[in-house]
Amino acid sequence: MPALHPPDEAPRAAAWFVFRGDRLLVHAEGDHAALLDYPELVALGASFEDGHYLGRLGDVDCYALELDGALELPANSGLEGLRALYGRLPDDQYAIAGRAVQILLWDQTHRFCGRCGQPTVNAPAERAKLCPRCGLLSFPRLSPAVIMLVQRGDEFLLARNRAFAEGFFSVLAGFVEPGESLEEAVAREVREEVSLELRDIRYFSSQPWPFPHSLMIGFTAHYAGGEIHPQADEIIEAAWYSRRGELPRLPGKLSIARRLIDWFLSQADDTR
Ligand SMILES: [Zn+2]
Repeated sequence: MPALHPPDEAPRAAAWFVFRGDRLLVHAEGDHAALLDYPELVALGASFEDGHYLGRLGDVDCYALELDGALELPANSGLEGLRALYGRLPDDQYAIAGRAVQILLWDQTHRFCGRCGQPTVNAPAERAKLCPRCGLLSFPRLSPAVIMLVQRGDEFLLARNRAFAEGFFSVLAGFVEPGESLEEAVAREVREEVSLELRDIRYFSSQPWPFPHSLMIGFTAHYAGGEIHPQADEIIEAAWYSRRGELPRLPGKLSIARRLIDWFLSQADDTR
């Protein structure tokens, strides 16, 4: 349950999501990772007054905290990126860690007003930085991106982006531009990246994507026309893949890309 301020009641159990940059401080043992507890963080010298209250998980108050770069980590702990922690922290803690890292990033990158340069303060009643001189409010940044599975009968479109590792394919995705609806962004991305036209663009689901501050909004769509022409500076290769055929290397279970693909693969054949 997200909140800006801790409740006034007596202090209860607390969980601290302690980051250095985009890496979380954990005890890691094989396939499992765990947060450090309060006494361990006290021993480490963490400055709790700089923590950001995040809200409550069950009976536990959750905080985000940036770790001073000079502090030496306990011998049995380490800093790990969130991608590497997927499936190793409990799912609810993993989701809160994604929130925590974005709030810390916002805190570090909005210390001065973007309009007049004055140092900002925390706004009293909402998660925002307030400029005391000109009144500008700066909220945590979220960059919405659309991601879409395009189907043609029992085939679907996969592409290899220049940024991907060798042999790795996924569905197309791109950031939403100002003034654009989500459906318009889906149609534009597919037109730009592979020159295809779409019909029946439908919302699928969404996923926070804290790398560093995206919100992925998933869609399905049907092919409506055109030939695949990859946009050379972004897409190396794009092709239709059959639901029943062999597939290339796909994104991991963490991503909504994989959820879209798994959803499509689980559907009965569609001859439209
Ligand atoms: Zn200002």
